[in-house]
Amino acid sequence: MGSECIRCTLPGVHPLAHLDANGVCRPCHHHERWAPTPEQREELVTEMRLLLNSTKGEGSIDAVVAVSGGKDSSWTLYEMARQTPLRLLAVTIDNGFLSNQALDNARRIADIAGARHEIFAPPLNDMRRLFHAAAETELHPETGQGRASSICNACIAVIKLYCLHVAQREGAPLLAWGWSPGQAPLSSALYRPTASMLDIFVSRQREPLEKVFPGGTDWIFEPTFCEDDVTPRFVHPLALWDYDERSIVAQLEELGWQRPQDVDSTSTNCRLNGLGVALHQRRYGYHPYAYELAGLVRTGSMSKRESRQRQLPLELNPDIMQISKELGLSEEIFR
Ligand SMILES: [Zn+2]
Repeated sequence: MGSECIRCTLPGVHPLAHLDANGVCRPCHHHERWAPTPEQREELVTEMRLLLNSTKGEGSIDAVVAVSGGKDSSWTLYEMARQTPLRLLAVTIDNGFLSNQALDNARRIADIAGARHEIFAPPLNDMRRLFHAAAETELHPETGQGRASSICNACIAVIKLYCLHVAQREGAPLLAWGWSPGQAPLSSALYRPTASMLDIFVSRQREPLEKVFPGGTDWIFEPTFCEDDVTPRFVHPLALWDYDERSIVAQLEELGWQRPQDVDSTSTNCRLNGLGVALHQRRYGYHPYAYELAGLVRTGSMSKRESRQRQLPLELNPDIMQISKELGLSEEIFR
C-alpha cells in the first residue's frame, strides 16, 4: 500500500493530495486554516434554518431535491420535509442502471415526505452509449477529477443539468443536493451562483456529454439564466446537519427504506458503481471515493480504519463483468 495522509487517509497518489514532508495532505492544511470555527458553524446553521423556513417559490414548488433513492439523498429529502415547511419536488434520474430497490426507496421516501416526485429516464440506448464512453475515457477531468469515477461523473452531469432545468421550469428558489460532508464542504453548503457562474457550471457539465452525442439529444438540458434572473440557491443540508451514516441508515430503515442487494458494498443506489470503482482503481491507483472518505475522516464523521477498509481494491466479480458486458465493453478495459 502506498503513502497516505496521516490525518485523513487521502492516498498520496490522489491528484489533490500533495502530501508535505510530514505526510499531511493539502486538503487537511486547507481545512485547518479555513474550516469554520464552532461559532461560524452555528451562524451557518442558523442561516440555513432561516433559509429553509422562509423561502417561497414563484410557483407551487420551493425546493427541488435531487434524490437517487440512496441513503444520503433519501435522508436529505426526508429531513427537509420533517424540519421545514418547504413545498418539495423530488427529482430522480433513472439512468437505466439504478437499482429497482433504489427507485422504490425514492418513491417511498418522497411519498412519506409528502413531496411531488418526478422520475426522468433518458433513453436507455443513449445511457449505454454515454457510460460506455465514460468507461473508456475520463469525460469530466476538470470538474470530476479525483472526486468520483468517470461513470459517476457522467451521470452526475446529467442529473445536475436536469435538476437545474426543473428548478428553472418551476421557478424554485432552492436546489438541494444530498452530498455528504465529505463530498461538499461546509463553505459551499448555502451557495448562490450568479447567472454567469451558472453558465460556466452548465457548460462544464454539458460539453463533455455533447462530445458523446455530437448530433445532439433532447435530454441533455441547457438551462440558461439572464443577469437579472433570480438564480436558484444550491443547498447541501447534510454538510450542516449532524452526519452519522449508521444512524441515517437505521432511521431510514424504520421508514421502510431497504438497502439494495444488487449493488456493490460502496453504493446504495446504482448497479454501475462497482464497474466505475474497479476501472478507476485500475487506472489511477486509488479509490474514486477516497476524497469523500478522507473528508469524512477530516470532519470527524468516520474513523481512519473504516475509510481504509472502504478503499480496498474491488475484485472483478461476476456482477461487474456482467454490467461491463451490458455496456458492450471489451475485457481489455480491465488490463
Ligand atoms: Zn489529509
